[in-house]
Amino acid sequence: MFRLIYPGSFDPPHKGHLDLIARASVLADELIVAVLQNGDKAGQLSLEMRCKLLKQVCAGFDNVRVRTFRGALADFFSEEKATALLRGLRSADDFGYELPMTVVNRGLKADCETLFLAASPEYSYISSSLVRELLRLQKDVSPYVPECIVPELEDLYQEQAGKK
Ligand code: ADP
Repeated sequence: MFRLIYPGSFDPPHKGHLDLIARASVLADELIVAVLQNGDKAGQLSLEMRCKLLKQVCAGFDNVRVRTFRGALADFFSEEKATALLRGLRSADDFGYELPMTVVNRGLKADCETLFLAASPEYSYISSSLVRELLRLQKDVSPYVPECIVPELEDLYQEQAGKK
């Protein structure tokens, strides 16, 4: 069983994430999209909301599961009996950020390998922070976010703006 774990914040999920999920789901027997419950990045959307949105985004893939994890990724990797972690590379900057994590994960668990897929050029400029900024400005995010979650995301940010 070739099982990949694709970890991330997914805050919110966007078309770059979906592109990686679609491509990896063809390569792997099973793909676990793992939503990070802790880490340095303060989440804007709740964990529950990020999971809910991701489940909608992944609904069309039979071999993709959405899970949350807390603590060390290398431990989650072992619990899930995964073959490798999957990360996306948009640029050389991403590589500089990813390399130390890759080395540390292998330091924690020798078999915890990381595989990288290069972002597709048409999505390589998309990031969750860009999508969040557009949502805050109440601008159209449909070029960047899977269609099935656009209305819910826009409603969420409109609700938040109404509370301020
Ligand atoms: P993290 O906080 O772990 O970086 P993200 O949700 O920002 O979480 O990203 C999760 C993974 O998806 C990372 O490997 C990242 O490089 C990758 N990724 C982010 N944006 C894109 C994109 N536009 N195209 C391909 N991969 C991407």
